[in-house]
Amino acid sequence: ITYYFQQIEKHQHLNAFNEVFFDSAKKQAEEIQAKLDHGSAGKLAGMVIGIKDNICYEGHVVTASSKMLDGFVSPYSSTVVKRLLAEDAIIIGRLNCDEFAMGGSNETSYFGTVKNAADEERVAGGSSGGSAVAVQADLCLAALGTDTGGSVRQPAAFCGNIGFKPTYGRISRYGVIAYASSFDQVGTLTSSVTDAALLLEVLAGADENDSTVSQQPVPSYSSNLKSQIPNLRIAVLKETIESEALDPETKTAILLALDKFKAAGHEVTYVSFDLLEYLVPTYYILTTAEASSNLSRYDGVHYGYRNTQAQSLNQLYKSSRAEGFGEEVKRRIMLGAFVLSAGYYDAYYQKAQKVRRLIRERVEALLKDNDVLISPVAPTPAFKIGENVQDPLVMYMADIYTVLASLAGIPAVALPLGNNQAGLPLSMQLMTKHFNEQALLNLSYSFL
Ligand code: GLN
Repeated sequence: ITYYFQQIEKHQHLNAFNEVFFDSAKKQAEEIQAKLDHGSAGKLAGMVIGIKDNICYEGHVVTASSKMLDGFVSPYSSTVVKRLLAEDAIIIGRLNCDEFAMGGSNETSYFGTVKNAADEERVAGGSSGGSAVAVQADLCLAALGTDTGGSVRQPAAFCGNIGFKPTYGRISRYGVIAYASSFDQVGTLTSSVTDAALLLEVLAGADENDSTVSQQPVPSYSSNLKSQIPNLRIAVLKETIESEALDPETKTAILLALDKFKAAGHEVTYVSFDLLEYLVPTYYILTTAEASSNLSRYDGVHYGYRNTQAQSLNQLYKSSRAEGFGEEVKRRIMLGAFVLSAGYYDAYYQKAQKVRRLIRERVEALLKDNDVLISPVAPTPAFKIGENVQDPLVMYMADIYTVLASLAGIPAVALPLGNNQAGLPLSMQLMTKHFNEQALLNLSYSFL
């Protein structure tokens, strides 16, 4: 733990942590040491883990990187935190992220942008940017993030780690600050597949506090990890890899990876996915709708920030929300309220629900004939801080490859493919059927 405290101190300028839990982490380390001496420690004993600052940990501040929740102390722990603690992981602190997990560059955080350790003028990705940089710069062994439309996978891709998003409903969302509840899923950022497997088997599984969690039994992912695996049918989403917008070095790296899969005996084919242009609009209509509903609870009365000058209740709501939320969050609340409004509900929200169903069916059909789907994670490697932040549409469009798995609810992983000429991490994305996490982990394990 002392090592990681020193690392964090040395890399403070990266702005990965919103807070380091010096006291509780130190206390935990001592308790776990004692357990280790008695041979009674859990299976994550001594693993030092950072959590994204939208995951509740009893007695600790949780802010979702928003002024709205600045200083808010969580009265209870999320299921994921309870499960980490039960297996003796050490929780070292809470990690910076985009405000309420809305963003793809960690530039919407009230606590400032996170810097990419590969090039400090570039973004870490988002929204789990602090989680990705913490693993990249060795500020902790692994980190939890949340992934609504790519927030674990894209920052992992920008920072060269493994970003794993399980099936929707594999891991409990209890105690995770909601953004878009039918998409939100906790995921892991690690530097090894073994750690991803180990964490998943601890975190996954039924929870009486979240009825959307699957009752499916949780395999022992880590002990099932194999580097020798049967030949798989791997299908590349043709339009994603042939897109003009795709960075050429990313494309080359993915093509090389495909050669490696072929050499290992897998069958690699190209398949067409013709709903590509609907992914981003469908995702943003549905997630902003859900966000506008989820964020209505921040009224200046129940939680966090409150304007103290207001003369009436309505004024209190208005001023607290106007001052507590940042620009991107407000944009999404307004968009969401609009698509849910009486006059536009059918035209936008309901239509998007139907398109989501269509997308999901199309993906499931592809996964009947193929075991794994491949695409890039993002159109480019990490971009410069400030480069895209003024243009929300450019930012939203960059989510095109990650929102597919989120709309369909399937598991997906971002795998590192080395660095480009400029030293920036490159990566690709693998996706598979619902609850087939083991196949993704095994293919990743055999590949890396
Ligand atoms: N960039 C996407 C968005 O802003 C994804 C965010 C996320 O997965 N939390 O919605």
